[in-house]
Amino acid sequence: MTEQSERTEPRRAELAAALSHTRARIDAACRAAGRDPGEVRLLAVTKTFPVSDAALLCDLGVLDLAENREQEAARKAVELPELRPRVAVRWHMVGRLQRNKARSVVRWAAEVQSVDSPRLAEALARAVAAAVAAGERSGPLDVLLQASIDGDPARGGCPLDELDALADAVTRSGDLRLRGTMAVAPREMHPGAAFERLAAAAERLRRDHPGATELSAGMTGDLEAAITHGSTCVRVGTALLGTRALASP
Ligand SMILES: *Cc1c(COP(=O)(O)O)cnc(C)c1O
Repeated sequence: MTEQSERTEPRRAELAAALSHTRARIDAACRAAGRDPGEVRLLAVTKTFPVSDAALLCDLGVLDLAENREQEAARKAVELPELRPRVAVRWHMVGRLQRNKARSVVRWAAEVQSVDSPRLAEALARAVAAAVAAGERSGPLDVLLQASIDGDPARGGCPLDELDALADAVTRSGDLRLRGTMAVAPREMHPGAAFERLAAAAERLRRDHPGATELSAGMTGDLEAAITHGSTCVRVGTALLGTRALASP
């Protein structure tokens, strides 16, 4: 074995085992809810982990990767193609995004799941138009509206009663494509109750915006409850990659 593979092979085995365990959890939750596991996308949240882990996940067939900090993601999105030149990965932004990062995020993100204000939507739309004109991306950006289930603005997210106005801000420009809703369950709420409230809001949004079919809900600790309530996309970090050494600031 080369020195390189002596270091990578144990990690590859660890990630493979974690992936099969996570997929088994998703399958079991779908079965319990009478749903088809093909309806639930798995996003691997690689934040704080090295890009070599992202490369190993690609080898294992996980091509949807998510990050919560723009700079870290921008760096990995440049480094990963050097490690895996032929692999078509989709990067998803799931963290709080400042408007001054819009111009950078549209260079690497296939989707931004954390759009929580009309001003951010407008900044992203302008950034997409500029990036397309500059030949830095080929088309519109998929976006999800990040909802605040309990209305607490501290964690980010748009209050549920302002989602309609936010959806209008997203669809006003042709540069963003409204794909659905995302949320993190508030710590103080029972996940089932939180996701039930979220599902109702997502359903209301779908009436006026039939393309908003995605519901991104569920993480390591609560993906079963999210799948019960209609999640179409779980965002999993810890269960796949392990405990993060540092909380992402
Ligand atoms: C970190 C993060 C996750 C993954 O959390 P885990 O509990 O490690 O699975 C999911 N969604 C968002 C928005 C995150 O920031």
